[in-house]
Amino acid sequence: MQVFVANPHGYCEGVVHAIALAEQVRREYPNTPIDVLGMLVHNEKVIQQLKENQITTIKIPISHYADFLSNVDASHIIIFTAHGHDRKLDQIATQRKLHTIDATCNKVYDSFLLIENALNAGREVIYLGKKGHPEAEAALSRGKDVYLYDVDQDFNYQQLKTNNPLVISQTTLSILELKGCHLDILAMLPNAEIGNEVCSATRLRQTAVQQLPSFVDAIYIIGSTQSSNTTKLAQIAKISHPQAKVRHIAELSELDQSELNQFSAVGVASGASTPLFITNEIIEFLKHYQ
Ligand code: SF4
Repeated sequence: MQVFVANPHGYCEGVVHAIALAEQVRREYPNTPIDVLGMLVHNEKVIQQLKENQITTIKIPISHYADFLSNVDASHIIIFTAHGHDRKLDQIATQRKLHTIDATCNKVYDSFLLIENALNAGREVIYLGKKGHPEAEAALSRGKDVYLYDVDQDFNYQQLKTNNPLVISQTTLSILELKGCHLDILAMLPNAEIGNEVCSATRLRQTAVQQLPSFVDAIYIIGSTQSSNTTKLAQIAKISHPQAKVRHIAELSELDQSELNQFSAVGVASGASTPLFITNEIIEFLKHYQ
């Protein structure tokens, strides 16, 4: 089997940083309960590894985070994840004198700063993102004049008071859907200022998928279905390679071997939260398939 691998693949720097931070906290506080509020990285294997290191992932709806922080035993260390968190959680943690660790990625943090600067200058902000995603919820918490433009829904322009908002986007959106949203906004608001915060790690991975050879019979996108950036890779592959079968799988055991004899050339790409060993295992399997 001919196998073409989209590069880069493997963790982005934000994921590397978040995992290293959690491991460092465990080393420094070997006997203290550590809770991660949400998935540190959107990959079940990573969550399992954290569990083996006695780091607990708190899997509850985002809307329950405030309640959790209000009631958690104050002896626990709380880790906030790479894609940001609601500001009111910081207030609760401060009031309760909780020990918190913030793993927010610098690129996410930069986009929040842009929002805050715009709000401080009296401007409105349209935030392009996905309702319920931690990063989008964290962005909306920056102020009441931040309006969510959910990429899967129509946006209500009537709620804006000005005609020149700043437009900011979630770092893991698809560059293709973003383009459509920007055109829609500019058609309605020609004076809007369009920012582009899709991070370079996301952008490079998406471009690499688009650049896989056009003749591949199938493209394997490796990563969790809970990972926004991985799901976007699958969406992009379907658009850029309409003739290829696109398979989004989390690990080798999910690969459907019964269809492999239909393929002579395949592409492989992985999300920024997919451990390298999982992708490499699949690449090696496909290379040696006869
Ligand atoms: S995908 Fe981009 S923004 Fe998200 S953690 Fe990775 S580097 Fe940071």
